[in-house]
Amino acid sequence: MKAKIAVLPGDGIGPEVIAEGLRCLRALAERHGHELTLTELPFGGAAIDLTGNPLPRDTLEACLRADAVLLGAIGGPKWSAPEAKVRPEQGLLGLRSALGVYANLRPVRVHPALLGASTLKPEVLEGVDLVFVRELTGGIYFGEKRREPQSATDVCTYTVAEIERIVRAAARLAHKRRRKLVSIDKANVLETSRLWREVATRIVRTEFPQITLEHMLVDSAAMHLIRRPSDFDVLVTENMFGDILTDEASMLAGSLGLLPSASLGEGTRGLYEPIHGSAPDIAGRGIANPCGTLLSVALLLRHSLGLEGEAAALERAVSEAIAQGARTPDIAAKGASALSTREVGDAVLAKL
Ligand code: NAD
Repeated sequence: MKAKIAVLPGDGIGPEVIAEGLRCLRALAERHGHELTLTELPFGGAAIDLTGNPLPRDTLEACLRADAVLLGAIGGPKWSAPEAKVRPEQGLLGLRSALGVYANLRPVRVHPALLGASTLKPEVLEGVDLVFVRELTGGIYFGEKRREPQSATDVCTYTVAEIERIVRAAARLAHKRRRKLVSIDKANVLETSRLWREVATRIVRTEFPQITLEHMLVDSAAMHLIRRPSDFDVLVTENMFGDILTDEASMLAGSLGLLPSASLGEGTRGLYEPIHGSAPDIAGRGIANPCGTLLSVALLLRHSLGLEGEAAALERAVSEAIAQGARTPDIAAKGASALSTREVGDAVLAKL
């Protein structure tokens, strides 16, 4: 097959982890006879330095023309001064909105060899394999904001259409997995959550009768996520609850550096990125964990290019490499020596 991929390495460790992602992507393409056009473009702080704009027009246009966008990470102290007028994050919000991606998928799998890397007890983590589907473009983050001398207001709004499309996305995913969907809300207090619950119930009952739907209050979900995480399959929730719970869930795996994400809209085009940031504390040292990026490449192959076999092969290669000790310092076993970003990339390529 032929496909165009826009590659945005970004800032800090972004270019380091993206380099490994591209090596694996090229190797897979060569092996399976796919013609991938990979175009690297400036984005985030790097683009501010070059053009004054975190999302230059050429970058945006190339992303809109592409079949998929692969992003490293953006941001860093250089562009974070409180008085800064342009910020790397504006580029990310602009890109998500231009691509129309409203569903953020974050799979969390606990690798058997890394049961000890988490702060939770190994027996709680055994068999964890869940996916969060977070609504990305609505809710309180995007509602009207007001400030009075003695008060402040943030409005939370959801439309029926916004809830329908995200619940459908989650239900479609659950249908391909263990067919268990948990919808998370705060329906005992919030009107938006009562609407969310009604719509989720109707969509699943009428369109996905094979799926078991459970509603869970967000406070209870936060507790069950660390008490019995292996019971979950797919979880769907609104923007702010998802923001908080996905960070909690990421800690089940042991390191931010391990986890991928996909942001999807209508159609197959998506934005793929590891969940971590630009990690200025370790940038330039060649020790960033590339696995979150490699697994994001696997999501890209699966969701945007329809290459399930290649996606699964890459996931297997990452898993086998980790099992055989290919680990950067963030997940290295106590007393064992750690590998560099490039060496972990080499180990995964060898498995591929
Ligand atoms: P961070 O995710 O960059 O780092 C948090 C901690 O995790 C650091 O100690 C870091 O060294 C470690 N870490 C992160 N990724 C790792 C990897 N691949 N391998 C090994 N260790 C890793 O979060 P932060 O420090 O809060 O933010 C740093 C910058 O990144 C900020 O400017 C922030 O705005 C930005 N950020 C960007 C994104 C994004 O690009 N989508 C997301 C989060 C934060």
